[in-house]
Amino acid sequence: MKKEGILFIVSAPSGAGKTSLCNELIDIFPDMRHSVSYTTRSPRPGERDGVDYFFVSQQEFQGKIEAGEFAEWAEVHGNLYGTAKKTLEEFRSRGLHVILDIDCQGARRLKSVYDDAVYVFILPPDFPELRRRLEGRMSDSPEAIERRLRVAEEEILEASWYDYCIVNDEFPQAVEKLKSVVIAEKCRTRRLASTLSGIFAS
Ligand code: 5GP
Repeated sequence: MKKEGILFIVSAPSGAGKTSLCNELIDIFPDMRHSVSYTTRSPRPGERDGVDYFFVSQQEFQGKIEAGEFAEWAEVHGNLYGTAKKTLEEFRSRGLHVILDIDCQGARRLKSVYDDAVYVFILPPDFPELRRRLEGRMSDSPEAIERRLRVAEEEILEASWYDYCIVNDEFPQAVEKLKSVVIAEKCRTRRLASTLSGIFAS
């Protein structure tokens, strides 16, 4: 019996460092893949289609909703984002673990379908630091930063139902914590049925 990959759902307010943390996990674990989402937002400088996101039109996105192609989708900061069922199924069936960098609405929707997934919330150390990070990125207007901070307050209230919360204060320590979550989850007894039966079969 082949082991099915684990889904790691990671949410955070923007500026908490989620994308960098997820990229570290991909580098650390050779059996971990990033779920590339579909979005209607325009690519930022340096972003590549099919790597960072699949950039699609509003119409294409709508078509995918109607065809039932998404495991979840949500409107975030005025744009649509969605995770394709096919992406998750293809990786998991090959025994690969998948990391999904998605917002709280999407995570909540997945929770009702994938109860066996691991839900991780990344927290900033505090609001002044979150503001500093958002301002430091120099990618948003002052109004957009205020909007992101307001949304962050609502998102952080959602952290209470996630399985793990990691404060990204010092980046290397946050990486270690996230890595520990992955290692611990791989060792869960309920995920090791095939390993156990293999021991007795040999
Ligand atoms: P950004 O546009 O800054 O890359 O992402 C904005 C927000 O959308 C982030 O919180 C990110 O996690 C979220 N996001 C990215 N992909 C998806 C997705 O497929 N589904 C949902 N629900 N949120 C997503």
